[in-house]
Amino acid sequence: MNLTGKKIVVIGMGKTGIATARFLGKQGAKVAVTDEQPIDKWGGEFEQIAKEKWLEIGSYNIRILTGACIVVPSPGVPPHNVLLVEAQKRNIPVISEIEIAYRFLKVPVIAVTGTNGKTTTTTLLGEILKGSGKKTFVGGNIGNPLIEYAEGSQKDDFIVAEISSFQLQWIEKFRPFIAMLLNITCDHINYHGSFSEYRRIKTRIFANQTKADLAIINAADPEQEDIASIINARVIKFSSKRVLQKGIFIKKNNIGLRMPGKNEEQYPLSIINLPGLHNMENVMAAIMAARFCGCSQENIIAAVAAFRGLPHRIEFAGEKNSVKFYDDSKGTNVGSVARALETFTQPVILLLGGRDKDGDFETLKPMLAAKAKKVILFGEARDRIASLIDGHTPMLKKTKLREAIESAYKEAQSGDVILLSPGCASFDEFANYKERGIFFKDVVRNL
Ligand code: ADP
Repeated sequence: MNLTGKKIVVIGMGKTGIATARFLGKQGAKVAVTDEQPIDKWGGEFEQIAKEKWLEIGSYNIRILTGACIVVPSPGVPPHNVLLVEAQKRNIPVISEIEIAYRFLKVPVIAVTGTNGKTTTTTLLGEILKGSGKKTFVGGNIGNPLIEYAEGSQKDDFIVAEISSFQLQWIEKFRPFIAMLLNITCDHINYHGSFSEYRRIKTRIFANQTKADLAIINAADPEQEDIASIINARVIKFSSKRVLQKGIFIKKNNIGLRMPGKNEEQYPLSIINLPGLHNMENVMAAIMAARFCGCSQENIIAAVAAFRGLPHRIEFAGEKNSVKFYDDSKGTNVGSVARALETFTQPVILLLGGRDKDGDFETLKPMLAAKAKKVILFGEARDRIASLIDGHTPMLKKTKLREAIESAYKEAQSGDVILLSPGCASFDEFANYKERGIFFKDVVRNL
């Protein structure tokens, strides 16, 4: 990809946008950058490129598109954004940061997507590969943009990349040699416009794969039922629900891995230190990819056993008077709330709420009936959620998270679980899910 002298417009000046602009500038492009936020709100790293000769700071206006050869939106800039709509009208290619990075990458890419479980699976797979002596870069949506990696010496054996639907929206040739789709449930509808469009975009992770590549899909996910027919790569399935003739699955107390002409391998479930069946799915997907990369069963078992999970994902947050608290602040959609509830055998008091993302909360009703003794709703979304889950589970409404936690504790009896799995974004009250989770743990500590 020769970018010398070409005008490229980068929309959005967060971490990824700035890294992209810097990369393009180094490639000899003329880079015009813009953002709907005023310049004093742009990422702190912007200072590093602010005085470069190749940089033009443009207004947030379609005039910036004049003479542009390519437009690169940052993740989070929605497809209906005026600049993107206008660029497409003018036939200016719109491509994402991962697409540009991909054109310059020399290291094979393993791509992980899905509505939930991306960060956990990406991190675990990175640990397994590293523990197996393979040099590995872990990046993408997880926080280290691929474009930054493309700038460096690229000495690794593998890249494990967490890939979001925002990034998949604008790929062209991005072709991971292993791609996995963990699950698809309702999320980001306000960005993609509809569930079917969101689902279509997720499956683009396989779009450029060939027979030489591997696609790992979830046989227990109803949204992936007919997906194998549109994949060119070799397909391997994982299932937490049934034993498969070929693939990876749960069989009694083990994970079984069965490939044609090979003995069945077994990985004891007892080595897994992560809660819930959903995490078994993440582990299975990671094991499958690791085996394909040549990791030994022994090294895989050691790395899985050493992995303790990530904060704010059904993380134990303390115990008071025999009431246990769990922080699942990263549970920002209905699918993850359902899986979190499924994890517990004790009666659960669920803290649900925050900023709504048009979640399909009504689908939670059966799981609430089975697992939740009470739901404490909080934040901006509390009234809409209340109207959608109205039924048999008792509900209380509170404005702020602190009151919700305090009232949950008042309601709790010994043996109960209090679970923050909000099913919503945090931005009505907090800067992000991390801040919300830390706040939850602080309040719990001081109850
Ligand atoms: P992502 O990066 O896709 O947001 P995380 O690993 O950060 O995924 O987990 C986000 C939320 O989803 C957490 O609440 C976690 O408990 C839940 N989760 C993790 N894995 C899965 C899965 N396979 N299916 C459903 N929910 C999951």
